[in-house]
Amino acid sequence: MTIKDHLLRIQERIGAAAARSGRRPEEITLIGVSKTHPAIAIQEAYQAGVRHFGENRVQEWEVKRVGTNNLAATWHLIGHLQSNKAAKAARLFHSVDSVDDLALAQKLDRARGEASLAQKLRILIEVRIAKEETKSGLEIDPLPAVAEKIVALPRLELRDDLKTKLGLPLPVLSMGMSHDFEVAIAEGATEVRVGTALFGGRM
Ligand SMILES: *Cc1c(COP(=O)(O)O)cnc(C)c1O
Repeated sequence: MTIKDHLLRIQERIGAAAARSGRRPEEITLIGVSKTHPAIAIQEAYQAGVRHFGENRVQEWEVKRVGTNNLAATWHLIGHLQSNKAAKAARLFHSVDSVDDLALAQKLDRARGEASLAQKLRILIEVRIAKEETKSGLEIDPLPAVAEKIVALPRLELRDDLKTKLGLPLPVLSMGMSHDFEVAIAEGATEVRVGTALFGGRM
């Protein structure tokens, strides 16, 4: 099975899961999680049609991007970002999908300005719903206050309508991995992050 075969199967499953919930498949963006896989695998996935990729380590991505800079893809940082890597991440990614505190958002905003990149950095706030010790993310209680401060940062883009309608349902919900993306779609996910089912097992 090639990456293209895997992709077709995933797209079928996204389509079926969307249909079961009365949603359209176009509402759901597939993020190919390429961490640990080489640039050549990203090239193959891009040729097959994947346009969004997720990496979880800034340094790994810094090396691999050399082998993928011919691709017009959107690069997402997924997973916890250490604050000492924030400046680099703000330069190397289009989107940071795992902002879990205000200080990190401020660092990203400042670094984006220093790099004089015209385009805003898209961010998602990572919310911790379950009280699992190991998981990062903002708790629900402080979320509204922190989100309000984050939307005031000039070089980050949470989503325009959120700025005026803070407190209403969020337009982007990134949730679901290889083993549960169909459930996530049923729950309203607009972005699913699929690694193993697309690229195969990780080393
Ligand atoms: C690795 C990873 C994924 C993908 O996991 P799979 O089970 O391989 O699909 C999704 N999201 C995050 C944050 C990850 O680190």
